[in-house]
Amino acid sequence: MRSGSFPASGGRRPAPRAIARRLNELTRPVDPEAKAAIERRWQELPEHVRTPAQTLGKVGVGCEGTHGVFPRCNFACRPCYHSKEANQVRTDGAHTVAEVRSQMRMLRSLRAPFAHAQLIGGEASLLEPDDHAEAIAAMREAGREPMSFTHGDFDYQYLERLALGPDGRPRFDRLSFAGHFDTTMIGRRGLRRAETEVQLDPYRHRFAEMFRRLRKEHGIGFFLAHNMTVTPANVGQIPGVIARNRRAGFGMFSFQPAAHVGDERRWKENYRSLDPDAVWALIEEGAGSRLPYHLFEVGDTRCNRTAWGFYVGDRWHSVLDENDPRDLAARDAYLEELGGVHLNAPLHLLLPRLVRLALARPHLVGTALGWLARTVRRVGGPVAILRGGVYPTTFVMHRFMHADDVKPAWEALERGERLRDPRLREVQERLMACSYAMAHPESGKVVPACVQHGVLDPEENRLLAELLPLPRRKAAPAETA
Ligand code: SF4
Repeated sequence: MRSGSFPASGGRRPAPRAIARRLNELTRPVDPEAKAAIERRWQELPEHVRTPAQTLGKVGVGCEGTHGVFPRCNFACRPCYHSKEANQVRTDGAHTVAEVRSQMRMLRSLRAPFAHAQLIGGEASLLEPDDHAEAIAAMREAGREPMSFTHGDFDYQYLERLALGPDGRPRFDRLSFAGHFDTTMIGRRGLRRAETEVQLDPYRHRFAEMFRRLRKEHGIGFFLAHNMTVTPANVGQIPGVIARNRRAGFGMFSFQPAAHVGDERRWKENYRSLDPDAVWALIEEGAGSRLPYHLFEVGDTRCNRTAWGFYVGDRWHSVLDENDPRDLAARDAYLEELGGVHLNAPLHLLLPRLVRLALARPHLVGTALGWLARTVRRVGGPVAILRGGVYPTTFVMHRFMHADDVKPAWEALERGERLRDPRLREVQERLMACSYAMAHPESGKVVPACVQHGVLDPEENRLLAELLPLPRRKAAPAETA
């Protein structure tokens, strides 16, 4: 059933009471199931992340991702967090769709009725466009807002075939993609190996341009994230990547300092040398502003730093002024009172829900209007906004952990043991507060992505390579005398 529709009633008209009940359900601001899921999440969180800025357990349960659904990739990035067995697995649309459906249903039933989820594995664009579209649709059916992860090395025709059904009509009103672009990658058409980040800028722009064209020609909206793996070799180029591409069309710039995880044949440097504060300072330099990441926290800030904000002209502004107690009070009201409100809903459902919320809690209207008025003043007033335009841009740093640390820490957690070693203790704390979950329908377990990639991927991919072997190359015909 589509969101916002009435249940079929065997050909009979629904009774007025049934209509009223359904209308009430559709427009109620707080979904009780979502609210209960969020409260459960708060109870599960370790004490050290239960801060006033914590979003998990307040307005969401965290992000989710797929695994083992299309492990293969046609690039050879250094490093790559996929295990070396991943490229022995054939990309198979039927397997992908069935697994995605099963994993998302499990997350729907165990975690929350809605969440953001990443369609991720090897390379999403190796899927046939119809299979890719079916996987996205399966995620939406399970209440997930999907984002496809890709190296972005595909043509507009692929995107169009994914976005349009066989009748030529849009299958989706909006698509979300994360494009991975950086000098660790090897295999891009036209630039097999980039020596500098600036060489990749035309490819970044070309990627965003395909989505602009899709919107123009077919009215399909988009959200794009730009992902960059950070290594000692390219860390110094972060400011330039942001400064040159902040108007390219990306709503998010996400940086992943490399970890020793995945295929060790592709580790080239000592990734432990990447200092998170130094990386964040370079992200700030590129953004041209301080990026406050304690206003809103997503799990443990040793894993994630996030700064929500927007550009007006060339200047980035945080959504909240961290030095204004009224803005902090607005943040607290948002976190305390909007849990279970599905803000990602279509406008025809969101508006009545917000109206009902305002009627039920009128003090929130004053809080929201006060924040809006202060923010408009803070960024220079209406004239500056009209002149410069508003470009929402989020900055993220996500630090995966090293497999050698995750394995013992996770195994001890599974035994119910807390380790004393400070490094492994930190790993355990971060795993317990993880904001990026992956589901295992076969065992009923939900695990942190660090555990998936650092511990479970090799065996999972070995089994998948047996299930979905690569097609055998034809043997060369024997020479005859
Ligand atoms: S535990 Fe790993 S996957 Fe989870 S949020 Fe931290 S770095 Fe990310």
